[in-house]
Amino acid sequence: MSRREVHESMRVRIEREVCTGAGDCARAVPEVFVMGDDGLARVQEGGIPLGDDAGASGFTLWAEVPDSLASAVEQATADCPGACIVIEHSAPEPEPAPEPEPAPEPEPEPEPKVVAENVAPSPRSSIPKRIGFRLRRLFG
Ligand code: SF4
Repeated sequence: MSRREVHESMRVRIEREVCTGAGDCARAVPEVFVMGDDGLARVQEGGIPLGDDAGASGFTLWAEVPDSLASAVEQATADCPGACIVIEHSAPEPEPAPEPEPAPEPEPEPEPKVVAENVAPSPRSSIPKRIGFRLRRLFG
């Protein structure tokens, strides 16, 4: 189980063309189902009845079902004599992909060592030799 809470939501609508108008749903879950003036059931959200779905003839719009009413709506759906209550469960939100690890910084290339080749010795390096040579001439 991740640290993030997995949440599945439910929504419901009614296929009004096959609603019998018996009103069982509205009596069972009045927060979600309401009877219209035409004698057929509707869904409502926050106490506001939702209209017909212009894109799906015969159906009402979808109403979100609060978690606290989900089991009651499922029961009303099972008990509906017209089998016209449609429930849809939204898929749980996918886990966010983990942030990719930043690529390690490449090691800096070591400075190439300059190897002196065929370099004449510094004149200073010959000073002790010359002093030694002179001393040997003087005292040797
Ligand atoms: S229980 Fe079903 S058939 Fe009865 S009013 Fe509600 S939606 Fe219509």
